[in-house]
This record gives sequence, structure tokens and C-alpha cells, in this order.
Amino acid sequence: DEDTYLLETDVEDEDFIPEVAAPPVLAIIGRPNVGKSTLVNRIIRARQAVVEDVPGVTRDRVSYEAEWNGKDFTIVDTGGWEQDAKGIHKRVAEQAEIAVDEADVVAFVVDGLVGATAVDEAVVKMLRRKRKPVVLLANKVETEAHMAEVYPLWNLGLGEPYPISALHGNGTGDVLDAVVKLLPETAQHGGMIPIGGPRRVALIGRPNVGKSSLLNKLAGSERVVVDDVAGTTRDPVDEYIELGGETWRFVDTAGVRRRQHMAQGSEYYAMLRTQRALDKAEVAVALLAVDEPTSEQDVRILQMAVDSGRALVIAYNKWDLLDEERRYYLEREINRDLGHVSWAPRVNVSARTGWHKDKLAPALDTALENWSQRIPTGRLNAFLGELVAAHPHPVRGGKQPRILFATQPSSRPPKFVLFTTGFLDPGYRRFIMRRLRETFDFTGTPIDISMRVRE
Ligand code: GDP
Ligand code: GDP
Repeated sequence: DEDTYLLETDVEDEDFIPEVAAPPVLAIIGRPNVGKSTLVNRIIRARQAVVEDVPGVTRDRVSYEAEWNGKDFTIVDTGGWEQDAKGIHKRVAEQAEIAVDEADVVAFVVDGLVGATAVDEAVVKMLRRKRKPVVLLANKVETEAHMAEVYPLWNLGLGEPYPISALHGNGTGDVLDAVVKLLPETAQHGGMIPIGGPRRVALIGRPNVGKSSLLNKLAGSERVVVDDVAGTTRDPVDEYIELGGETWRFVDTAGVRRRQHMAQGSEYYAMLRTQRALDKAEVAVALLAVDEPTSEQDVRILQMAVDSGRALVIAYNKWDLLDEERRYYLEREINRDLGHVSWAPRVNVSARTGWHKDKLAPALDTALENWSQRIPTGRLNAFLGELVAAHPHPVRGGKQPRILFATQPSSRPPKFVLFTTGFLDPGYRRFIMRRLRETFDFTGTPIDISMRVRE
């Protein structure tokens, strides 16, 4: 089938090892001026590749590729964390917290000449909540006399403080040894999901749904699919596309555009490509087409999007081909096959005519906004209080688990934790999930509820 547009991967190239998993993430946090940037510069000295330079008012979060003793990882440098911060500083503090959420290990830097301040103590509280492995660094320690401020740092309860001088390099090797020991093989918390800058979109879908056509239409030019000459470049290409007055970054589009011969195992590679694009994206557009029934591959790709924890928009393409009869069956099909992702906004489009292409940006905006949503603890508990009063958990074996407290520790996507006196029925948990969706708008984002049982 020569006319199939497929992924960029040349499946005949044996030494190509697809990279799916993102390297683990080390977040560097601490007050302003403690020496975070200096430390990052020292660590990445050998490899200056900036992964993501987030534009904006301040350096919110910047990521770098780093390596120590043969282990690759990503360093996320954050602006300073300040307590009760307002305006720009508040945003910076939020960024630091998000960086911690997405990190596998946290390096918490304090000024070794100053010792722990009230702000540092607040950081410690935040870190405790996050339950991430932390290495505590006392920076600017350059003489024996400076050690006087280091010992009291044990009181922070974060284990042994490492005295270092980011400026001169003293002690940084030991820190990296410790960090590398703590880092998992791959990112466990979504890896790098950059914030700020153009939002990142993964356009995914099985072959022939019209990804390449849609991309061409959105980009505003009927570009020809890149031919075999370009088959030598394996670099995933990101394209910047203006939609709804905003620039969007479509990630890994090379694979979307490349024309390939259908080959054995190609679905496997298509799945790898999809995973890689999802890893890099904040939101996925899962493209389906009306000219064929929902296939197993469609369902698998949708599931990958859901599992990735990214925001999701479902787009139905080739709407120009739809007649009355097919429309009738399609609606039934959608209800049957896509019931589990009914929370995703749906957009009907035609890549051929451009019909409804302006509906995509608002759907993406909605999905991303809800994906980042954080419900304040007070509101969440008020909601649950009312819910439980009206619909108490059924009594099981003479016992009735109670919900003591709920909180949303993280967003992107929203995750909730319920503290309970016993295990909740799966059905009751689904009920809470449904009511959460009805009460707060989570259109376009997966949400997650976990429980901590206190017997
Ligand atoms: P950040 O705001 O935490 O990123 O801090 P910077 O890396 O920008 O450093 C703040 C100031 O502290 C700069 O003037 C650095 O030169 C200085 N500094 C950073 N690390 C050290 C260190 O190890 N020793 C000394 N003496 N100064 C340092
Ligand atoms: P991809 O494999 O997902 O990138 O799909 P393509 O963009 O290569 O499209 C596959 C086939 O569907 C091509 O023959 C396109 O011309 C056709 N196609 C794509 N979008 C539409 C559409 O909106 N309407 C119709 N009628 N055909 C389309």
C-alpha cells in the first residue's frame, strides 16, 4: 500500500532505537539568590543544551539536559520560592511547586552563610507534602568557619545537608553522586511538561484519518508531504501554527507528514511515535475519521492519550463525506465506543475544505485551562461535605467509611487525594468522580482520585 502516509521512522534502519521514555527529572528549588543558577551552570557545564527556555516575565522554569557518570537526566531550574508571594513572585512560586510535582528528585538549595530562614521552613513544609526524595544543599560554604551555619540545617529534617560551593565546585560531585543514586531510570511524573511559551499539541491518530491534511490546512499552506530525500533526518520536527490568535507548537510533526511504505511492524512504530509526541505535549488532538468505523487502533490511541495524563480534544475529520445515514450510525458509534472519554470536547472538521478548523483553538484552550485547574481545599471539602450528607457511602458489613478530608495536591492533570476511614466502593468513587466533573468544569482533562485510608 504505497499511498499510506505513516510515521517518520524508517523501520528498515536497524540501529534506530526509538526513545520513548523521558529522562528522569531533578528540580532545583530555593529562595532567590541562594545560587541555584550558579549550581545549574556548574552541573551542565559540559553540555549546554537548553531544552526549554521559557519566555515570560521571569525565569519561571528552565530545563537543561544533564549527565553525570553516564546517567542522563533533566535539570529544571526554577525562580525563587517565596512565601505568601503576590503577582509575579506568586507565579514563580507556583512554578517551583509544579517543578517539584514533576520532579523525581528535588535539590533544595539554602544559603549556607545565612542558614535556614522562615521562607526556607515554608519550602520544607511544601516539600514534605510532596513526598519526593530531597537532597539538601548548603551553598556558598567555602571555609571551615562557614560550617557553623551548616550543622543546624539538620533540624530541617531533610537528612544530611551537603555543604557546597556552586561557584567553585566544592562538594558538587558528592551531591551529583547522591542525586544519581536517587534518580529512577526514567521520568515517573510526566517528565518535562514545559509551561509558558507556545502550548504543545500532539496531533495523533491512526494512518489515513487525515492528520497530515489537517496540519497542512491549519498551517495555511498546502505543503507537499516531505519525500524520501528527507527520510534521512530522524529528528522530530515541531511546527508553530497560529490558531485563534495564539501560536501553538505541534510536536513531532515530521512523522505526521512523512510518506512511508507500509511495512511490517509499522503499527508498533506508529504507537511509539504517538507515545513520544504525547510525552512532549500538554494537550493531544486525537483525530478520528467519519469514513470508517472506530477501529481498535483508534481506541488504543485514545487510551494512550488518556493514560498520558495530557489534556484531550477529540476531532472527527472528513465531515464533508458524511451523509444522513452515516451520520445516524456515527452518533451511535461515538456514544458506544467513546463513552469513557465523553469528557473530551469533540470537534467535527474537514481537513479537505477547512470547515470548522477555527473550532479547534477554543477546544484546546478549554481543555488546557481545565487541565491546569486547581480546586482550593476549602471549596473541595465544602463540595464533598454536601455530597456525602446527601448521598452517604453505603454501609458495608456494619461499617460505613467516612471521608475525613480531601485535597488536590497537583494539577496538569488534576489529582485528588481523599483521606478516609476505610476503603470506598469503586462505584462510590466513580460517583464522586462524576459529581466532581459536574460541579467543577473538567472538560478536556482526565482527573484522578486516590485514597489514603486511616484505619
Ligand atoms: P539564584 O537566584 O538562586 O539562581 O542565585 P544565583 O545563582 O543567581 O546566585 C546569586 C548570587 O550568589 C550570585 O551573585 C552568585 O555569584 C552568588 N553565588 C552563587 N553560588 C555561590 C557560591 O557557591 N559561593 C559564593 N561565594 N557565591 C555564590
Ligand atoms: P494521515 O495518514 O492521518 O496523515 O492522513 P492524510 O492526511 O494523509 O489523509 C489520508 C487520506 O484522507 C488522503 O487521501 C486525504 O486526501 C484524505 N482526507 C484527509 N482529510 C480529509 C477530509 O477532510 N475529507 C476527505 N474527504 N478526505 C480527507
